[in-house]
Amino acid sequence: MNKIIEVQQLVKKYDNFTAVNAISFHVNEGEIFGLLGPNGAGKTTTLEIIETLRSKTSGSVQVCGFDLDKDPIKIKEVIGVQLQAAGYYPNLNLTQLIELFAGLYNKQIDALELLNKVQLTEKAKAKYKELSGGQKQRFSIATTLINNPKVIFLDEPTTGLDPQARRNLWDLILSLRSTGTTIVLTTHYMDEAEVLCDRVAIVDAGVISKIDTPSNLIDQLLATGFEKPLPVKQASLEDVFINLTGKALREE
Ligand code: ADP
Repeated sequence: MNKIIEVQQLVKKYDNFTAVNAISFHVNEGEIFGLLGPNGAGKTTTLEIIETLRSKTSGSVQVCGFDLDKDPIKIKEVIGVQLQAAGYYPNLNLTQLIELFAGLYNKQIDALELLNKVQLTEKAKAKYKELSGGQKQRFSIATTLINNPKVIFLDEPTTGLDPQARRNLWDLILSLRSTGTTIVLTTHYMDEAEVLCDRVAIVDAGVISKIDTPSNLIDQLLATGFEKPLPVKQASLEDVFINLTGKALREE
C-alpha cells in the first residue's frame, strides 16, 4: 500500500511543555485514518503541523512524497483543510464563497456541482450564517475539495450535530473515500471511528499508544480476557430516536 503521509518522531514543544512527544505513524493512500484521544492529547497540533499551519520542534513529515521542511507549498497544493467558521465572509453566499476560494487556488470551478456533492444545491444563494450546524459542516467539507486534493483533514467534523446530521456526514465522508480521497480525521466519538476509520491511532498526552484497525484493537482487548456485561437490550436509545424521527435531515 502506498504511504501518502509519513510522520516520524514528531515533537512539538510549547515552551517547556511537550504537546507532541516523538510520535510516528503513516497514512495509506485511500484510507480514512483517525486520530483518537481525549482533549489536550495533541491531535490538533499534529494535524496543523502536517497541514503546514504550525511549526514543529523536530521530526520529519512527508505528504505525497513532499517533505514538510523543503516543500511546504507543494504540500499545500495537494491537501484540503477545513477552515474555522471565522474564515467565511458573512455577507457572501455559498456560491460566491466557493468562487472566492477557487480564485485563491487559481482554479476554475463549478460551484453548483461542488455544492451538489455535499447536498447543498438548494442553499447555493444562502449565506454561511444562515446554515444549520450540519449544513455548515457539509459546506466546510466542500471547501476542502476545491483544489481537488489527494488528502483532506477533518478536525472533529461531527461535534455538536444531531444524530441525523451526524449520519448524513458519515455518508458524505464515506462517499469521498470511495472516490479515492484519503481522509485524516479526529473525533471523540468511538462509534464514529468504528464506522468510518480503516485504521486509528490512539493518542494520549502527546504519545501514540496503539495504531490498528478498530476491529483488531477490539480483538486485542478481548484476548486479554476483557469482558463487558452483555447488553440487556438489543437496541439503544439512539436506535429508538432514529426509528421515531427517521434518518432524513431536519435542518433544510
Ligand atoms: P487536542 O487537539 O488533542 O485536544 P491540542 O493539540 O489542541 O490537543 O493541544 C495539546 C496540548 O498543547 C494541550 O495541553 C494544549 O493546551 C497545548 N497547546 C495547544 N496549543 C498551544 C499553544 N499555542 N500554546 C501553548 N500550549 C498549547
